[in-house]
Amino acid sequence: MRTTSPQAELKDYRMPPSAVPETDVELLPIAERNELKASIKILLKQHNAVLVAHYYTDADLQMLADETGGCVSDSLEMARFGIRTEAQTLIVCGVRFMGETAKILNPEKRVLMPTLAAECSLDIGCPSAAFNALCDAHPDRTVVVYANTSAAVKARADWMVTSGSAVDVIRHLHAQGQKFIWAPDQYLGQYVQEQTGADMLLWRGACIVHEEFKGIELEQLRRQHPRAKVLVHPESPAAVIRQADVVGSTTGIIQAVITLDAEEFIVATDKGIFHKLRELAPGKTFIEAPTAGRSATCKSCAHCPWMAMNTLRRTVQTLESGANEIAVAPEIIKRANLPIKRLLDFTQQQKQLAGDA
Ligand code: SF4
Repeated sequence: MRTTSPQAELKDYRMPPSAVPETDVELLPIAERNELKASIKILLKQHNAVLVAHYYTDADLQMLADETGGCVSDSLEMARFGIRTEAQTLIVCGVRFMGETAKILNPEKRVLMPTLAAECSLDIGCPSAAFNALCDAHPDRTVVVYANTSAAVKARADWMVTSGSAVDVIRHLHAQGQKFIWAPDQYLGQYVQEQTGADMLLWRGACIVHEEFKGIELEQLRRQHPRAKVLVHPESPAAVIRQADVVGSTTGIIQAVITLDAEEFIVATDKGIFHKLRELAPGKTFIEAPTAGRSATCKSCAHCPWMAMNTLRRTVQTLESGANEIAVAPEIIKRANLPIKRLLDFTQQQKQLAGDA
């Protein structure tokens, strides 16, 4: 009798292109953008608020966050900054799970977002009821979830990880003989599995932005730019990751651009990051990794439609009205805090060890 493996039985939760919203970038005359930026600066002061922005958001929002004492970073640093800052209101410019993480770590602070409609295909593709059922069916496995999950899913997890910390955390736990349920990004999960050799049951979700990068078209592009270094975010498919000179989180990609002795880079992640790359390495050339090609169904074309919902106009409206506040139930906050704190403590220890070495 043939039996199927638990992995083969898992449902495919990837979002079909037809369900992905159009990317609606806010195109405004410069004068209007400048007026909105000036209003945001005043409103931030009035409300004792800071902007906590992701690298994939609008370049003007990133600049404003830097100029006004907020932060521009990846999701792990966004979480850390929310704890560090004395501001009592956090304006999280990113997607909803980032706002929820900020609230879980800072329940006493007010967390607002320019829009609560900014979702993430990974978060949407990991409904908590189905996820809990998987965990119930495999009680012998340690539950590790990616940051890109809802507060309810995090509340069921033993550990939360980010793309920059996933390999280190799984390697550490694998060395203790642990087996894992991993959710929700299957490509990042496969990459971590390859790097660590761990036994991982992989949820079948994907990021609609990174999943669109194409291996064959990347090979062709590399031939046209033989000197370029290829930097790839690990949410990308294996055929793309295999061609990388550096596989890294957004922070890892930025560090590679600063430290590598190269003038040209092909970058496979959301194109919102190009603002920071050009700012930090103005003399270097950055080329978008290909999402289009004969086989492409390119919908996002390397820019997250949900990140693009964080506009200057919506930021002003949120600051003025106090709308779009993130609410997380106290019992979920209590439980979801554990896997996040585990990661923050782990990464802090790793930093100290690196400093001592
Ligand atoms: S870029 Fe991908 S992982 Fe990031 S928020 Fe958008 S859909 Fe989610």
